Amino acid sequence: MVFEKLEERVILNGTLTLLTPLHIGSPKTEFDIEKVDMPILKDTQGQPYIPGSSLKGKVRSEAERIARKEGETVCTPPDTKNMCGTEAPNNLCICCRIFGTAGNTISVASKVRFRDAYPKTRVGETMTRVGIAMDRATGTVAKKALYSIEAIPAGTNFGFEMVTENLAQEEWKLLKAAMGSFIDAGLGGSVSRGMGKVNLVLESASIKTSKSYLGKEKEQSLSGEEFKKWWSRK
Ligand SMILES: [Zn+2]
Repeated sequence: MVFEKLEERVILNGTLTLLTPLHIGSPKTEFDIEKVDMPILKDTQGQPYIPGSSLKGKVRSEAERIARKEGETVCTPPDTKNMCGTEAPNNLCICCRIFGTAGNTISVASKVRFRDAYPKTRVGETMTRVGIAMDRATGTVAKKALYSIEAIPAGTNFGFEMVTENLAQEEWKLLKAAMGSFIDAGLGGSVSRGMGKVNLVLESASIKTSKSYLGKEKEQSLSGEEFKKWWSRK
């Protein structure tokens, strides 16, 4: 058993802006009486949001692609059978060290958490886009050809928050690269049709240590130029 120490916790805040409409689907149940065929995920107040798990999944998959390109051996989630901790417990890949794994012999918590991202101001109306379903085999228009996709309009700003714990320098490097890459790769559904382009501007960081929690040293709050400098060194 490994006893973990809290070395450093960093809370990063920023704004995620939709450059094109975003569709993050809500699981449909047979009781759904939605007007659109593909509704978006909404909270109990009817506000759309981006689940932290979607953000994490996207950033992780970009991290895996970058690490592989750099010649690192990286496992292949989401099936835990193919992930570190099932076969080779002592040798976690860099992505499992950052994002965690739930292998059969060892499970490690993620060092990065993404909070659900909510719109900074209330989203009044969502929009509906119409798609045409093609029959993949024949390339012709399918029987029920038209379907509708609900989306959050471009220009919507979401509050972004991410919490990291005890990241090593090489882990910061990969995480930072993956965050740059996920923005360009797009988020949610219909990305191939131009949806889900986002921009992310990180604005501030709070850096906390076990000593700052004990009141033995001041916690650091960085914003503006100070934050930019700190982030560029990561
Ligand atoms: Zn792994």
